[in-house]
Amino acid sequence: MTYYDVDVLIVGGGPAGLSTAWHLVRQDARWAERMIVLEKAHYPRQKLCGGGLTPLALDILHNLGLEVTLPHVSVYELRLRYRRHHYALRGRPAIQVVDRALFDAWLAEKARSQGVQIQEGVVLTGVEIDEQGVTAHTSQGLLRARALVAADGSNSAVRRFLKWGRGHKARLLEVRTGVEPDHPYFREGIALFDWDVLDMGVQGYYWDFPSWVDGSAMMNRGIFDSQFLSRRPPIPLPQILAQMLAPRGVSLEDYPLQGHPIHWLDPGMPPARPRVLLAGDAAGVDPLLGEGISFALAYGRVAAQTLNAAWATDDWQFRDYGERVRQDPCLRQLWPRRLGARLAFGSLRWPGVTRGLWRIAPQLFSLMAWMRPQYFPVTPRRMFKLHEGIP
Ligand SMILES: Cc1cc2nc3c(=O)[nH]c(=O)nc-3n(C[C@H](O)[C@H](O)[C@H](O)COP(=O)(O)OP(=O)(O)OC[C@H]3O[C@@H](n4cnc5c(N)ncnc54)[C@H](O)[C@@H]3O)c2cc1C
Repeated sequence: MTYYDVDVLIVGGGPAGLSTAWHLVRQDARWAERMIVLEKAHYPRQKLCGGGLTPLALDILHNLGLEVTLPHVSVYELRLRYRRHHYALRGRPAIQVVDRALFDAWLAEKARSQGVQIQEGVVLTGVEIDEQGVTAHTSQGLLRARALVAADGSNSAVRRFLKWGRGHKARLLEVRTGVEPDHPYFREGIALFDWDVLDMGVQGYYWDFPSWVDGSAMMNRGIFDSQFLSRRPPIPLPQILAQMLAPRGVSLEDYPLQGHPIHWLDPGMPPARPRVLLAGDAAGVDPLLGEGISFALAYGRVAAQTLNAAWATDDWQFRDYGERVRQDPCLRQLWPRRLGARLAFGSLRWPGVTRGLWRIAPQLFSLMAWMRPQYFPVTPRRMFKLHEGIP
């Protein structure tokens, strides 16, 4: 008989791994003893992220009985800008901006309160799969499990060890700058998505998110380049960010610039193999906006359902995981987002088309929101044109 140290090994204690653990214990409290979460860092660990929780993420947390009580900024208005097209979308709120380090530590604490074992400071250094299970090499020795959930982020070590392919990655750069708490973005709850960078070859946008970090008001600013079209000439992203910051009175030289990729969904890549499930960024998230927290939480929900079914049948092949992902009410939105990315960035080859799409953006939003109201964090009728321009 094969010996297992644990039934399920979850690698990565970010939203995807912790959501998998939390969903499992919610389904059956005995899961707390059957699984371990390995996290290479210690909470509160730094994770480069805007910390924007959309209603998709908040709904999943709410369904788990988790209400975000951490300090946050509620954003009620998303401002979108491209050339002379200035639009605003109002939400209820549209986003809650949290400090990611605190958010993940909070999630981990909640999971622990349900008995979930999280081993901090333990690094996965290798993995082998055989017919009976998984052997994980870690910085603390070997672990044998029936199955493994790879929730170890965009640079997934599990994917690398198992030669799962590099996948497609967006590039993101971020800086946090001090700001007065009575800045209009804080006072009125506004976040900006500035798409002018499309004209500079960026397949994405520049953002300004108001946020609280260690009790101080900070503006989280950054640039998202999806790299959706892979055969575009390389672009100097830091210079473009510096160019976007200059009119805001910010010099890039005064702040540490940080970067991290987001691995986005490739529909051709299966998110499971016998004994292994990918979740969160390791599996692939949104190529259009780079939203990932909600999808990571949703992957956790689907991974937990799949593991429960495997436990019941003792079949660990995970043949239906891909289909479960496609059927999940949150994750199925990744496919329209891919289509959106194709439209938004594919059209860069024909600048006239990009401009035309922006001209009819309110109508496009209304149509999409009418077809798929559940996908929209904002009330589409409230999308309006700003005449005064955007600061
Ligand atoms: C600059 C930037 C801004 C972003 N802004 C937003 C935003 O505003 N809203 C939003 O929804 N999304 C945003 N995202 C995306 C979001 O951060 C990710 O999609 C999300 O963190 C994915 O969660 P995850 O659990 O899959 O991975 P992660 O959060 O990356 O967690 C993976 C965990 O695995 C651990 N780990 C890695 N390797 C090992 C190993 N070998 N052994 C043990 N542990 C390991 C890591 O320490 C980490 O804790 C942003 C991303 C970036 C880069």
